Amino acid sequence: MTPDVRDRTERPSRPGQDGQDPCAVPESAWRRALDLIGGADEIALACHVAPDGDALGSMLAVGFALRSQGKRVVASFGDVVFEVPRLLRFLPGQDLLVPPAEFPAEPGVLIAFDSSMSERLGLLRPSAEAAREVIVVDHHPSNVGFGTVRLIDPRAAATAMLAEELVYRLGGTLDRDIATCLYAGLVTDTGSFRYSSTTPAVHRMAARLVATGLHVEEIARELWDRSPFGYLKVLAAALDRVVLDDRLVWTYVTRVDRAAQGLPYTELEGVIDIVRRADEAEVAVVLKEDDQGAWQVSCRSKGGVDVAAVCAALGGGGHHNAAGFTSYDSVEETMARFRAELRKA
Ligand code: AMP
Ligand code: MN
Ligand code: MN
Repeated sequence: MTPDVRDRTERPSRPGQDGQDPCAVPESAWRRALDLIGGADEIALACHVAPDGDALGSMLAVGFALRSQGKRVVASFGDVVFEVPRLLRFLPGQDLLVPPAEFPAEPGVLIAFDSSMSERLGLLRPSAEAAREVIVVDHHPSNVGFGTVRLIDPRAAATAMLAEELVYRLGGTLDRDIATCLYAGLVTDTGSFRYSSTTPAVHRMAARLVATGLHVEEIARELWDRSPFGYLKVLAAALDRVVLDDRLVWTYVTRVDRAAQGLPYTELEGVIDIVRRADEAEVAVVLKEDDQGAWQVSCRSKGGVDVAAVCAALGGGGHHNAAGFTSYDSVEETMARFRAELRKA
């Protein structure tokens, strides 16, 4: 049986409605979003650059729902090299994607996913700035409040929780394709239901998604349990130069490391999860050099330090325990700036 998301008996709780808390998104915002979507023939969807499972999964899920409502849908993300990361290529709905160059320059209605600020849209940022209406679907506490309609719930474990709500309100049916996209978002952002963001509402949502018949094991393997062989060599290089410095554990991966193994940048997402294991450290950092030569910095905390605040001070953002920023300085300079901000936190 495919549960219909409109069936409230299958939806005992929605994001933000678990327990006493009212949903952080006011009813008026949902209504305004639905009115705008209802009045548009074409909807442009955008998610943050270097998309993760939550960004791409939420966007594609809503894309499916909009298309089934007869809307023209264009979806994209604003990376200079437009390529879906290998670990997300299993997601259904990739035919909705167009390269940034084909994305409307002045959309009537644009929906932005999992982005705390318009800068996170990369090459699509000018489209968001020229759009008549921008509906922001997000869960970052650091969201700066861009856009004209804000479907933002900082308590939601993933943007996918808000995307599910939007699918439901659009009158969409939670089929296996939509559920697979939403599940990718939910498992990614809860660290496979390990982070403290994993509330009863998260598990209830997972139950609704799994009930559609999605392939839990296949999804997990695609997301975390496979890599090209070269990943092992690049990981070995990164671990070889890992440093434990007071309560900070950190390392870096260069373009040269990757080139030697023909390894794409997007294969590096899991490195931080290995580095952050070190018991002696409170904060973990991995600097990853992208194909343009910029350092994409991943930071993790065990709870005692708000790395979102540290990264925000360095031009980035994120969540209390998982955040990041971009640096154009050297490794040494970047780490010096990071340590200086860390001391203040
Ligand atoms: P990552 O380490 O890439 O998995 O990123 C962890 C979190 O940090 C993401 O969910 C984003 O919210 C945030 N983040 C990462 N990189 C940036 C950046 N350059 N600017 C703003 N936020 C970022
Ligand atoms: Mn994200
Ligand atoms: Mn997210």
